[in-house]
Amino acid sequence: MLLVGLTGNIASGKTTVAKLLEQRGATLIDADILARRAVDAGTPAYHAILDRWGTEVLSPDGALDRTALRQLVFGEADEISALNEIVHPEVARLREALVSEARARGDRMVICDIPLLFEKKLVDEFDLIILVDAPRPLRMERLTHDRGMHETDAMDMIAAQMPSELKRARADIIVENGTGMDELASQVDEIWKRLESEAMRRDSTRERAIS
Ligand code: ATP
Repeated sequence: MLLVGLTGNIASGKTTVAKLLEQRGATLIDADILARRAVDAGTPAYHAILDRWGTEVLSPDGALDRTALRQLVFGEADEISALNEIVHPEVARLREALVSEARARGDRMVICDIPLLFEKKLVDEFDLIILVDAPRPLRMERLTHDRGMHETDAMDMIAAQMPSELKRARADIIVENGTGMDELASQVDEIWKRLESEAMRRDSTRERAIS
């Protein structure tokens, strides 16, 4: 099995690339889905969050209101790290469980979409890292125009992230997502070929080691 980490800064196109890879046959493990599942009502992380921030972070139906929680901690370094200490270990545990299941099923290509892969120093957990990158003005445009975010908030979010130059230097494969969907799909086709040959190379190395 080839275990691939997929990352990129906000609005770079990670989700779009992840879906294109999934369409080509990869198993996708999405950090955002794991982050939601980690704080499902009744989980230890859910209770830890309520203990610290109280019921104002709950929706009327008793589920965690992740947007309210995000707003509550935004810009507060201590609060953010307290939240991360609660949620991140649970997300990591869920991810490891899904990766083990994929391995047991014999899946050949597993992609983990992890926005903060470099920041959380997870590089060594993967056979290969794909970075999705797009020019800053285009990411701003996606955040403000497509998602209706206020310009200052979008700027703050972009500025708060590790600069993509640092990430580019550490990635194995870079997707240049500054053009349209057709161009993106062709890049993903090329990347898929590369992933397939890397998976094959690893399989034959392993077979040689066993025989
Ligand atoms: P986030 O960091 O917020 O999770 P993301 O990196 O997962 O975002 P996407 O959601 O994949 O980014 O893409 C952001 C927006 O840009 C979406 O509306 C998506 O449809 C659009 N988009 C991404 N790539 C392209 C492209 N090549 N051409 C046109 N639109 C694109």
